[in-house]
Amino acid sequence: MRALHWFRSDLRLADNTSLRAACDGAEQVLALFVFDRNLLGKSRPAAPRLRFMLRCLTQLSQRLEAHGSALVVREGDPAQIIPRLVEEIGVSRVSWNRDYSPYAKRRDASVQRRLEKAGVRVDTFRDRVVFEGHEIETQGGTPYTVFTPYKRAWYGKFECPAAPRPPRDWLKPGVPGLESGTVPSESDLGIDRDRTELPPAGESAAGERLQDFLEHDAAGYAERRDLPAVEGTSRLSPYLRFGTISIRSCLRMALEASGADPGAGEGIAKWRDELVWREFYHAILDRFPAVSRGPFRPEYARVEWENDEKLFAAWCDGRTGYPFVDAAMRQLNATGWMHNRARMVVASFLTKDLLVDWRWGERYFMQRLVDGDPASNNGGWQWAASTGTDAQPYFRIFNPVRQGERFDPEGHYVRQWVPELAEIPPKFVHQPWMMAGGTQEYPPPLVDHAERRTEALRRYKTARNSAS
Ligand code: FAD
Repeated sequence: MRALHWFRSDLRLADNTSLRAACDGAEQVLALFVFDRNLLGKSRPAAPRLRFMLRCLTQLSQRLEAHGSALVVREGDPAQIIPRLVEEIGVSRVSWNRDYSPYAKRRDASVQRRLEKAGVRVDTFRDRVVFEGHEIETQGGTPYTVFTPYKRAWYGKFECPAAPRPPRDWLKPGVPGLESGTVPSESDLGIDRDRTELPPAGESAAGERLQDFLEHDAAGYAERRDLPAVEGTSRLSPYLRFGTISIRSCLRMALEASGADPGAGEGIAKWRDELVWREFYHAILDRFPAVSRGPFRPEYARVEWENDEKLFAAWCDGRTGYPFVDAAMRQLNATGWMHNRARMVVASFLTKDLLVDWRWGERYFMQRLVDGDPASNNGGWQWAASTGTDAQPYFRIFNPVRQGERFDPEGHYVRQWVPELAEIPPKFVHQPWMMAGGTQEYPPPLVDHAERRTEALRRYKTARNSAS
């Protein structure tokens, strides 16, 4: 019997629910990845994320080969390609791990319909998250829209997963004689000019990162997670995004680490809470797919954005004249990653100081972030713009200078990413315009924070009043 596992955001062998199930009872398993033309065909591909994905795929292909299998790569529309392949080589079972974005759900439903019409069995699995949207509900059977009670219910249901059996125990060979196809190169996809410094890719890098974090940084996570100049967070987001590590392995190993070192317990507990935020935003996108197009809170649909293209371009390039904001945007542009505190500050600045629609920022992040994820990115942007579930209230507006002084008190983060300010005394590093003579190379602030804050409050209030 032949089975097919369709790889998507789960580019690993270990603890891969659908791959493991596909191998159960099958003699051969076709391991397939489809470059989805509908996604690739978009006018501006997210070059850093795509480059990272290519590297993950190359590693996945090597790992499969080392286990006597092969990655079969195709390009086109999965709804055409998969039924054709299945018919060509006689596959009786197809499986994949479920995704939750509206596009993925539509695509998967269409593939499933065609396969089932042809008499092929389809199995789909929960793998990307511990609990899917419908599994954590209020007593009234509705989805949670506030994080703290969601988290309480989530922990109430959570049991530490058992260690999975290694792939060598269960992985089946591929289908002999089938043309594998090759993972395209960066130049094939027109992304070879991107210069983002990517983290090491793949399953082995993910495992090493987790181990390293749990050994060295997890104990101090609660105190250091908000300091962008410090390597205090796990940097696992790109790996979770492409599933080169499973969420279950992260949670299991974190629990083991806190059992082995009770002193690290508080830091690790805080870190697990962040993984629950990831689950929360996946559940929100799954249950409220309209958030991918507009605000969760309809009363803020009418905020009158200024949407000044020049201000937006300066924000994208890290030239706003606010050092903490500019450091963060330059970190993003250079590395495809940005510290969480910095993400919150730049998102607040774009929406409430520059009065630019949060969806512009959301889109820019999706172009630049290696970990760009439709659920977490949308959740983060709607939180910062005060339009989302359990969001920052609209009247709490981050002051970009105070945020810098509080979370980068010595200015190390600013100095690292804004070399024009490398020599500036710490006293002025977050407001260089206060220094006598200012700085020659660094721009003055684009807008006056106090004025824009007042204006943002007025616009949010107007939107709210006009909705009631
Ligand atoms: P750690 O602090 O080590 O956290 C561990 C893991 O928990 C992360 O890898 C991530 O998977 C998850 N996590 C942590 N914080 C959050 C959070 N607030 N929401 C959801 N999951 C979280 N995260 C993404 O993975 N992809 C995105 O596209 C994304 N866009 C964001 C946009 C904005 C405006 C904001 C405010 C946040 C965004 N985040 C996003 C959440 C968060 O900033 C990143 O997950 C985190 O910075 C990744 O670094 P880390 O792996 O070192 O995190």
